[in-house]
Amino acid sequence: MTAMFIIEKTEIAKAIEKARKLHPRIRMVRFGLYEVTGSKGAIYAVRCWRERGMKHVDCTCATRDGIACKHGVAVIPFHSYMATTPLAASH
Ligand SMILES: [Zn+2]
Repeated sequence: MTAMFIIEKTEIAKAIEKARKLHPRIRMVRFGLYEVTGSKGAIYAVRCWRERGMKHVDCTCATRDGIACKHGVAVIPFHSYMATTPLAASH
């Protein structure tokens, strides 16, 4: 089961609030693929990609599709930052 949501079409404010409390550790596996450590030490894989001009996020946690999860939103600023780094974006 994975949770997939589209940033432009999803209410993400609540998930951002949860992510702030989580203080997740984020590790980049490669550009667009990240590992996020959750509150209980579980590690979730989060993928970010752009499709038809919209940002998609997919997480391996049990959150339902269409609902932003805290792991996914925790990665968004990190991913956006990496996207501005020419070295990372070229991979
Ligand atoms: Zn998640």
